[in-house]
Amino acid sequence: MSQSRDRLEIRGLHAAVDGQEILKGVDLTIGRGEIHALMGPNGSGKSTLGYCIMGHPSYEVTAGTIELVGADGSRLDILAMEPDERARAGVFLAFQRPMAIPGVRLADFLRHAVTNVRNPQRKEGQELMPMKEFRSELKAKMGELSIDADFARRYVNEGFSGGEMKRAEILQLAMLRPRFAILDETDSGLDADAVRLASQSIARIGGAGGGSESGAMGILIITHHEQLLEHNVPHHTHVMLGGRIVESGGPELAAELHKRGYERIRSAYPDAAAAEKAMEGSAVGA
Ligand code: ADP
Ligand code: MG
Repeated sequence: MSQSRDRLEIRGLHAAVDGQEILKGVDLTIGRGEIHALMGPNGSGKSTLGYCIMGHPSYEVTAGTIELVGADGSRLDILAMEPDERARAGVFLAFQRPMAIPGVRLADFLRHAVTNVRNPQRKEGQELMPMKEFRSELKAKMGELSIDADFARRYVNEGFSGGEMKRAEILQLAMLRPRFAILDETDSGLDADAVRLASQSIARIGGAGGGSESGAMGILIITHHEQLLEHNVPHHTHVMLGGRIVESGGPELAAELHKRGYERIRSAYPDAAAAEKAMEGSAVGA
C-alpha cells in the first residue's frame, strides 16, 4: 500500500477539451518507488490525464482533485499551481511529441531546468548552478546511460530521431530526478531496440534503484510497447476506457492486454465502451 509514503493522488478527476468531457472520473494513486503502467485503446484519455497532471492550458479540469500527499499527511493542491510550479514541486511529464527549441543546446536547457527544480525560489535571471558542478554531474549521468558526449551539444530536439528524443528525455529524467514522472510513450518512430534501451535506462534511474539522496521515483508509464515494461515490470497496471480507469491489476494484466487486446475489457465494462464510442464520434482529429 502507498498510504505511508509520498504519493500523487488523483480523485474523481473530470476534464474537458473544447468543452467536451474527456475524463469522466479518474482515481489513481501513485506512491514513490512504485511503477504504474497505464494502458487502454487509442483515444481513451491517457494523454489527457498526463496533460491535466502537468497543467496544460487546453485541458480544463472540471471536477476532482490532484494532490501531492506527504508521508506526514501534508497535502499540496497541484491543480492550484502553474505548470512550472508543478515541475518545481517534483512532477515531470515527458511529452509524447516534445517541442524543438532551435538555438538552445541540450546542456544549457538541462542546466536551467536542474537549477530551477533544485532551487524552487530562484527567479529568472538569477544565478544558475555552477558550470563545473553541472558538467561533472551531466558527464556522469551520460556515462551511466551510455549517451555519447557530443549529444548534449545538440540543439534541443532539433532533427532528433525518435530514439534520440527518447534519450534526451531520459537524460532529463536522470538529471532532474523528479518525485513523480509521467512517461507518455509515442506510438511511432521507435524500433524494438530503442524501446528496450529506454526501458533499461528508465529502470536504472527510476524505481527503487534510483539514487538515494532524493529517494525513489513514482513512475506512470503510458505505453503500448510490451518491451518498455520488460525492465520496468509494473507493480500496478491500469486500463483506461472511455475516460475512466475501469480495471487495475498487476503485471499479468499488462501481459493479458498485450496478448489479447481490449475486447474482454469492452464487454466487461459496457458503459465505458459506450463512452468510448461516443468520444470517437465527436473526436475532431485525433
Ligand atoms: P489517448 O492518449 O488515450 O490515445 P487522448 O487523451 O489523446 O487519448 O484523447 C482522448 C480524447 O480526447 C480523444 O477523443 C481526442 O480526440 C480528444 N482530445 C485530446 N486532446 C485533444 C485536443 N487537444 N483537442 C481536441 N481533442 C482532443
Ligand atoms: Mg496518447
